[in-house]
Amino acid sequence: MTTKELDKKYVANTYNRFPVEITSGKGARLFDENGKEYIDMGAGIAVNTFGMADEGWVAAVTAQLGKFQHTSNLYYTEPCARLAEMLCTRTGMKKVFFGNSGAEANECAIKAAREYGITKKGEEYYNIITLKNSFHGRTLATLAATGQDVFHEHFTPMPEGFLYAAANDCEGLEKLVAENKVCAIMFELVQGEGGVNALSAEFVAKIAELCEKYDLLMIDDEVQCGNGRTGALYAYMHFGITPDIVTTAKGLGAGLPIGATMFGEKAADIYKPGLHGSTFGGNPVCAAGACHVLSRLTDELMADVTAKAEYIKNALCGAEGIKSVSGMGLMMGIETEKKAADVVAAAMEKGVLLLTAKTKVRLLPPLNISYEELEKAVNIIKEVCKNETLA
Ligand SMILES: *Cc1c(COP(=O)(O)O)cnc(C)c1O
Repeated sequence: MTTKELDKKYVANTYNRFPVEITSGKGARLFDENGKEYIDMGAGIAVNTFGMADEGWVAAVTAQLGKFQHTSNLYYTEPCARLAEMLCTRTGMKKVFFGNSGAEANECAIKAAREYGITKKGEEYYNIITLKNSFHGRTLATLAATGQDVFHEHFTPMPEGFLYAAANDCEGLEKLVAENKVCAIMFELVQGEGGVNALSAEFVAKIAELCEKYDLLMIDDEVQCGNGRTGALYAYMHFGITPDIVTTAKGLGAGLPIGATMFGEKAADIYKPGLHGSTFGGNPVCAAGACHVLSRLTDELMADVTAKAEYIKNALCGAEGIKSVSGMGLMMGIETEKKAADVVAAAMEKGVLLLTAKTKVRLLPPLNISYEELEKAVNIIKEVCKNETLA
């Protein structure tokens, strides 16, 4: 049987895959089973920070792999400790918990918020406010945190204790905080799955103000928009806020599974031994790769990300069939006249891999994509967005 046939027969039916098998890649170029080349504008959904088979990352990972691959969290390991130090030094956060995914990073933040509310404010202060149209993961608690009803269907009853505010509605948020027993506000600064929309500066400032006023934990979900994606190491750095908890995953591991929950001053001592844990969390191979990733997320690279984003925006804004471009840095949503799925299919045919987010076409290319590759990709996007080219 072919890979496609085996997958259809034996892999659980949770994904609608494109009819393409990826067999190799280098940087932002991928190859399928027929040797067809694609420019990758999705990076495994913001995961492959430096694209496929990046030499520096492969060297960092394989060096650790040759030493030892796993110990459990009963023992100290250097890559885990060094990664925590790098994250704290670069962000000003105080402590880090490592898990294996974005959902787990958020699950850890949600548990910390409940512990904080219940111990510091009282039994009933377990409510967490999240935003409508958000996405925080696929576990039951992170699904409940996700402010989109479609994700809750089929899985009720949802864990309790989540309240949903409309993004960018300062008054609505203030009312929700004032009228409920709340321990935290959780948000994505750029909503990824929800359509690549950045929160307004005014709304973010209101979140910070309310967290201060009501002693709430400010939980910033940077699973998708973190790790250099927006042209800052973490997106909160654009907004002049200091979250109490920052969660991240996707691009941190650059292709290996790792999630991190970073705790600021106010949240640093919430967890005590026994309250939380993970068998694989802080895995030395994943952590060694993540240390390498962080070492390359320099100011110079951030400037480069911003410049590439400008390049894409300039090329696409006002082009035929393109209504608007949203997002920050190399995290973009394109509103097209054609259906996003049709644009993605037509671009794939011409050798460019795109993503969607709700009704938009979404771009999340590797941060080190070349201008030559970007030019090619952008030209194909423009071509397939024009009205006459789709059958
Ligand atoms: C992808 C994503 C998650 C979930 O991450 P997983 O690694 O799939 O569990 C959570 N929050 C945001 C903002 C995401 O984009």
